[in-house]
Amino acid sequence: MPCAPSPASPRTSRGPARLVPVANRTTEALVLRSVDFGESDLIVHLLVPDAGRLTAIAKGARRSVRRFPGTLDLFNHLRVQVAHRRTAGLARLEQATLIEAFTSLRREPARFALGCYLLELLDRLAPEGGARADVRRLFGFALTALHTVATLHRIDSRLRTLLELRALDALGLCPELRDCVRCGASLDSGVGEVAFSVADGGPVCGRCTRDAELFLHVHLGTLRALEQGLRFDLERLDRLVLSRQSLEESRRILDRFQRYHTGVELRSERFLDEMLGDAR
Ligand SMILES: [Zn+2]
Repeated sequence: MPCAPSPASPRTSRGPARLVPVANRTTEALVLRSVDFGESDLIVHLLVPDAGRLTAIAKGARRSVRRFPGTLDLFNHLRVQVAHRRTAGLARLEQATLIEAFTSLRREPARFALGCYLLELLDRLAPEGGARADVRRLFGFALTALHTVATLHRIDSRLRTLLELRALDALGLCPELRDCVRCGASLDSGVGEVAFSVADGGPVCGRCTRDAELFLHVHLGTLRALEQGLRFDLERLDRLVLSRQSLEESRRILDRFQRYHTGVELRSERFLDEMLGDAR
């Protein structure tokens, strides 16, 4: 007579992993990225208001409609329950409920492209942890920026430029726009064009430039226009006028500046360039 299959191991014999202490927390979160993992799991990159960027595994997420009812899509603003093991390793996403889906971002290619670009920038540059006030501010920025992209009438290169600047500002990486980044002197308003150093993160006055260095050259008016863009409410950015020259110069600065910090070409960058007609 064949042997009966042996019963499943009792739960108590699974080994020490079950004894690792776990801390649970419930928080708001924004889905920055979601990647299939194994047969049925997802790895999700989240932005959370009290911890910055957080990577978590959602076990069985591609099967469990009950725990994750279509909620782990890009752009989604969620309330999540996360379990952290007090040893190294991925956090575990236990549950997620939808707060807001920003559905209009998925309906129009230009909105979708700009939304994806902003999320990718945050996914690359948001800190894991960090000062609580800073990451809360970053989370607030991310939600308002998505709302802006979802609702403003015109999605164009000017809006992209100003939102990109605001994203760098919220990340604590905003370029200096007012004074010489090397000596702190005010820029002479009579000069018209100034040298901009991507590596130094701002304009460099005539006394601090050396002949052999490579600079971008921008008009002072462009820096002043960008400074104004830092002060505007995000939802009113469409009212800010940028001349064609200022827009071209701003794009050059921000393209180089973003690449300097991320170190890569973002996956969504070419798609966004095509959607908005931005030459490179
Ligand atoms: Zn100087």
